[in-house]
Amino acid sequence: MQAEIRSDNKKPETRKKFDVIIIGAGPAGYTAAIYTSRAKRETLIISGILPGGQLMLTTEVENFPGFAKGIMGPELMTTMREQAERMGTTIIDDEVVNVDFRHKPFKILTYSEEYEADAVIIATGATPRKIGAKGEQEFSARGVSYCATCDGPFFKNQDIVVAGGGDSAMEEAIFLTKFANKVHVIHRKDKLRASKVMQDRAFENQKIQFHWNTVIEEIKGNQKVNQITVKDTSTNAVKTLEVGGLFVAIGHEPNTKLFQGQIDFDANGYIALKNHTQTNVEGVFAAGDVHDHRYRQAITAAAFGCMAAIDVDKYLAERK
Ligand code: NAP
Repeated sequence: MQAEIRSDNKKPETRKKFDVIIIGAGPAGYTAAIYTSRAKRETLIISGILPGGQLMLTTEVENFPGFAKGIMGPELMTTMREQAERMGTTIIDDEVVNVDFRHKPFKILTYSEEYEADAVIIATGATPRKIGAKGEQEFSARGVSYCATCDGPFFKNQDIVVAGGGDSAMEEAIFLTKFANKVHVIHRKDKLRASKVMQDRAFENQKIQFHWNTVIEEIKGNQKVNQITVKDTSTNAVKTLEVGGLFVAIGHEPNTKLFQGQIDFDANGYIALKNHTQTNVEGVFAAGDVHDHRYRQAITAAAFGCMAAIDVDKYLAERK
């Protein structure tokens, strides 16, 4: 640790070396920061261009414990940020453009600065793939959702659409039948990619109707989605479904491009963990959706952030 950098007389913004740098400011990043800062580790979050992550694009969050009446996604993230700052975390709303994990201390380059850290937590999340239809962005969080577990209960007794033909789409379609009157699955091919067991469960479900060789053309509505136009690509026939929502379940892309060639990924392109939350590079840890393609929840991302922070604290203590 460089003495001049740790000096309490320096403003946090001028410090360039930290005990731990957290890349990404979703639930995983903020929770990790709350824990490392509270453990008196000098912590910097580099938040990226969308601080708060996917929850900034959500409306009400009903399943994050502690909020009996629910909380708006952006408010939850702002509160987490304030909590991290209160614990002493420095937060910079800048984007990381390069990292060097080959030598210690690790180097992290943003658009405007270069920083160093003894440990790094990668919490850059994953981005749901977009269907690319007209109206998708306009109605995002107003009927268009990328998470059935998060938003399904808002669609009670409505007809809805699920886009996709993989395991996620089948899982989401089946889950959504608990709330919806009817679930239309729109799939671009004439057969599913999903595993046999998931296919069988979906085919058995009376509330699910499949539309094969079909693509979504347009999402329409007023305040919220009320119609989706789809096209059968084998006949070019266009029809309009009167539905209250669209769940896009066509996969996620982990935000790992920055780390290519520096740390190991799994077969799906997510960060591979070797020892609890540690990657194959000693001192570099990962938390949240960037390594977890199974649960993908705010609460599980936060929990992984906590675990990574505890692992970092132990790692730094052992290094000394
Ligand atoms: P996935 O397996 O990659 O499936 C994506 C689906 O979306 C495919 O059917 C694909 O169509 C379709 N698709 C992709 N891009 C599209 C586009 N632009 N327009 C329309 N459709 C598009 O992704 P996933 O379902 O999220 O699953 C990811 C991994 O997690 C998989 O390994 C999966 O098995 C696993 N998973 C397992 C479970 C479980 O076992 N319960 C649950 C969820 C996920 P094509 O088929 O035409 O390519």
